[in-house]
Amino acid sequence: MSDLPRVALVTGGSRGIGRACAERLAKDGFEVYLTYVSRPEEAQKTVAAIAEAGGEAKAFCLDASSRQAVSTFFAEEIKDKVHLAVLVNNAGITKDGLIIRMKDDDWDRVLEVNLTGAFACLREAAKIMVKQRAGRIVNIASVVGQMGNAGQANYVSAKAGLIGLTKGAARELAARNITVNAVTPGFIQTDMTSVLPEAIVSKMLENIPLGRLGAPEDIANAVSFLAGPGAGYVTGQVLSVNGGMYM
Ligand code: NAP
Repeated sequence: MSDLPRVALVTGGSRGIGRACAERLAKDGFEVYLTYVSRPEEAQKTVAAIAEAGGEAKAFCLDASSRQAVSTFFAEEIKDKVHLAVLVNNAGITKDGLIIRMKDDDWDRVLEVNLTGAFACLREAAKIMVKQRAGRIVNIASVVGQMGNAGQANYVSAKAGLIGLTKGAARELAARNITVNAVTPGFIQTDMTSVLPEAIVSKMLENIPLGRLGAPEDIANAVSFLAGPGAGYVTGQVLSVNGGMYM
């Protein structure tokens, strides 16, 4: 094993689920690199919280959907500088709308960030992990990529695609001791879901057997497992963390 710092890279690690993953992976002993795109102050808050808890983290402004920016980032900050132990592809957005009214831009942007962005990061990470002959990749998909959801055809397609990417990459990279898994969160309390009207939240709760919304830490626990020593023989899997809303 090299003497380089063991880094866990979390895209969109400044807020919500990504932040919980970043904090947890720092507690697990990784140096955390987290990315953000629009809110540097949130990223700095997360870095400060990790430092306060005794961990190490750095924040980078990186639009995951820009292949050029992703490739420059990996060349400048990762390659030959750190041991890239873990990639968590978490950056994601929604732009909801019914199919018959969906704008091309909303379709394209959701696919670009949630799927193409994840692919761009996974490809660059894989080049490095193949040389290391070790690595863990965790893609944050969604329960709706498994069960569908009205009004989210773009997001559902992107997340279902991310599950496909997980399985394809898992088969391709297994021979180099790289595992690739997906976590599919159910309804998790973050900024992304805080915009939903109370009536929709109550309706959703009726369909969650465990009777509560998820917390970002519920997802971080699953990511920590998949990134940790106990999951060395787990690859190509979809770990549903959804309170039982889809079984
Ligand atoms: P969130 O609170 O809206 O946070 C999104 C994070 O992604 C922020 O850090 C944001 O950075 C970053 N981001 C957005 N666009 C980006 C881009 N182009 N490049 C890099 N980073 C970008 O979202 P969340 O609820 O924590 O969701 C995190 C992931 O879990 C997403 O992939 C989401 O689809 C998935 N998920 C969430 C739920 C849920 O119920 N919340 C359920 C299933 C799946 P800035 O703050 O700088 O914009």
